[in-house]
Amino acid sequence: MILGLAIIFAISYGITIIVIGKSIQQNNKAIIEKDIQKHVYNLTLYIKQYIRSSEIEENADSFQKYATDLGTILSTKFDERIIIYNHEGKFIFDSVNKSGEMEFRGNLNKDLRLALENKSAYTIINTEERFIVAVSVPILIDNQRLGIIRYFFDYAYLAQSSQNLFQYIHLSMLLIFIVLFAFIIMLSGWITKPIIRMKKATHMIARGNFDYDLSIHTNDELEDLADDFTIMKDNIQERIKEVEIERDNLIRLHKERKLFFDNVTHELKTPLTIISGYTQILQEYDEEDKTFVKKTLGNIKSETDRMHDMILDLLDAAKAESSMEYHFKTFNLTKVVKEIMEGMYAKERYENITIQDDIEEDITIYGDVLRIRQALINIIDNAIKYAKEEPVINIRLYKDHEDCYIVIKDRGIGISEEHLDNLFKPFYRVNKSLRGSSGLGLYIVKSIIKRHGGSVRLSSKLGNGTEVILKIPLKFTT
Ligand code: ADP
Repeated sequence: MILGLAIIFAISYGITIIVIGKSIQQNNKAIIEKDIQKHVYNLTLYIKQYIRSSEIEENADSFQKYATDLGTILSTKFDERIIIYNHEGKFIFDSVNKSGEMEFRGNLNKDLRLALENKSAYTIINTEERFIVAVSVPILIDNQRLGIIRYFFDYAYLAQSSQNLFQYIHLSMLLIFIVLFAFIIMLSGWITKPIIRMKKATHMIARGNFDYDLSIHTNDELEDLADDFTIMKDNIQERIKEVEIERDNLIRLHKERKLFFDNVTHELKTPLTIISGYTQILQEYDEEDKTFVKKTLGNIKSETDRMHDMILDLLDAAKAESSMEYHFKTFNLTKVVKEIMEGMYAKERYENITIQDDIEEDITIYGDVLRIRQALINIIDNAIKYAKEEPVINIRLYKDHEDCYIVIKDRGIGISEEHLDNLFKPFYRVNKSLRGSSGLGLYIVKSIIKRHGGSVRLSSKLGNGTEVILKIPLKFTT
């Protein structure tokens, strides 16, 4: 751009200078011509008057005779160099150089030749330090040429002033062009600055650096572009964050799945190894000790039951995790909670439990009845399983704003603080040797409640009972 500008400026500058030079020349020529016309007129008039008023006869010989007198008078009067030639162009008189020779070189006698054709003419003699105009005027009286007067005007002052003018114009033009050039360069710099910033920003963003601030305040399309660019950048950044979160979730899920699978393998292998051991003992045992056989078979049975329970829990966990297994509809939660409580009273093994309840009527939610029921039974079962002596359970159901809460509280053995963070992880048990405990119960509860858009909170103190709070939204959309 700078090179292009410089070329354009140089060309325009050259053309302007040539045009101005030419017009000054033409102007000078016009001034000189006008001036000379006036002089020729005055000179001719003067000479004619002089001839008529003196004793010069109106013929060439007489003119030649008085030429020196006339030349001296004329040079004094007009204060210019005067050369007089006879009617044939032969030199007679020179007021400066007696020989009439010119100090200028070259063919500069065109005016004289034209004077011999009875025409007044001039030649511009422009040397380095001088600007002289030679004018030849034929003296014609009654169509008869008496002689030729040639005189010289020095237009040095005109040449000088033109030169000065030309130089002023030259300088001002140069100045204007320099200022203009500098201004355009500055302007282009000013215009390209935000573009350069944007280029830098795209460069940074392309390399994953999103912190680059691209606020431009040019109050034009560039500012709009920068704003849109920032919006685009923020969107990309947000998408990347989302993708990263999703990626982390996937990694976490993958790890969880693997851990879950490893646990399943371990949990199933243990009873199988035990069963296999007992079976081998029985195979190798040949004495007829019925009590021993019965005891061993009893052990095999309890391990098989344990495995059976574990498989049932695993199936429940798989169902709780799979969205395919959920059948959502609006149902009366109050009714479901009451049914569970009645069912428990009816069962023999729960006969010594005490349930204190505070159930709000007609709470309906949108969810899967079977799964909600399963979650509640799991928690109540725990409250009974981990009771100190005779279980006392407190069940509350109420709604608040957009959610309903089910609080199940027991006065059981409680859980020490270090376990609280892990309770909802699959296969986590506080007491690993406890029978009838797979460590999947709370994990299933959490999966179910999460699927309903809700959350589970458990607070407990060792020896001081446990409280589980389920929060379920009343109007959940899947
Ligand atoms: P589990 O099948 O072992 O009961 P859960 O996931 O239901 O598995 O519970 C995990 C662990 O949390 C249990 O092993 C138990 O130690 C503890 N726990 C759960 N509920 C209670 C409770 N109400 N009182 C005391 N401990 C509890």
